[in-house]
Amino acid sequence: MFFERRKKEAQQKVLEAIERGQAVLSSNSVAEVREANETLRTVWSDDDHDNTEALSLMVKLDARIGELAQSAIERMAHPCMRCGCGEHRVSEAFRIRDFDVPGTWMNSPTLRMWVCASCGVVELVADDLTEIKEPFFKHLIRAPDPKRGPFR
Ligand SMILES: [Zn+2]
Repeated sequence: MFFERRKKEAQQKVLEAIERGQAVLSSNSVAEVREANETLRTVWSDDDHDNTEALSLMVKLDARIGELAQSAIERMAHPCMRCGCGEHRVSEAFRIRDFDVPGTWMNSPTLRMWVCASCGVVELVADDLTEIKEPFFKHLIRAPDPKRGPFR
């Protein structure tokens, strides 16, 4: 009896997460799609991976996250700061593990490595700016406005 009720609750959570996942499939917010995908993956796992519709929707949500990430990367493209070349090789997203932060260990934000196709200069770019926060990112530095001249 208890297990039947628990199973029904798990199935209901999967159905709700499927509804939410289908609703955000056309969203342009990576965070929204990623959150719906992670929720669906969690409740699907709690339901012993029984729902095949959930599995095919997660494949679609993964593909949508990939599309949104790709268009975000294309919007960030700029000429190389060193040689002016406009072509870059961009890595998959990754994290640097075990950052030694005073008092703790952390992982880095999700990063991508951009490498200039001509001169090889490397930039690391954060995928999600909401991950750029304390305690690892303590300092916010504002560059002076170049249009204001030497007198401020
Ligand atoms: Zn370059």
